[in-house]
Amino acid sequence: MKFLADGMLGNITRWLRLLGYDVEYEKVQNDNELLIRSKKEKRILLTSDAELFRLAKRRGLTTALVKKTSPDEALSKLSEKFNIHLVFDEMRSRCPTCGFPLKNIHKNSIREKIPENTYQRYNEFWICSSLSCSKVYWRGNHWKKISQTLNKARKEKLNVEK
Ligand SMILES: [Zn+2]
Repeated sequence: MKFLADGMLGNITRWLRLLGYDVEYEKVQNDNELLIRSKKEKRILLTSDAELFRLAKRRGLTTALVKKTSPDEALSKLSEKFNIHLVFDEMRSRCPTCGFPLKNIHKNSIREKIPENTYQRYNEFWICSSLSCSKVYWRGNHWKKISQTLNKARKEKLNVEK
């Protein structure tokens, strides 16, 4: 399952990548190009634009209208529709910035890339496998918030299913 997100959906793009999904993000919005690319690359088109959503449906594309809401709400809706898993799995997680897979890395080999107190405090690190990105990640303070959002999304999904 692959996605193509329009220029308004940078936030949901990062969330889906974190959950391990292949998401391409088009910053510059050109409706026709989005429609062509979605079809050519067999990507589910995620859009916040009702008109583009209608066009995509008319052309027989798989698409979802993602409203500007909180990430937990958007994720639970997408999960209902496409059965997206709402559990973080570090083995499949992708770089939120560029979408390349992340890989585990020993902290000594990235010591110069992270603050000293981070090096001291954490033991698990991941690095983006794209050489032009190479961002390093760890379960820092933001981690709690990520877990909370995913918990919330799972609960909202259950409420809808009842
Ligand atoms: Zn990256």
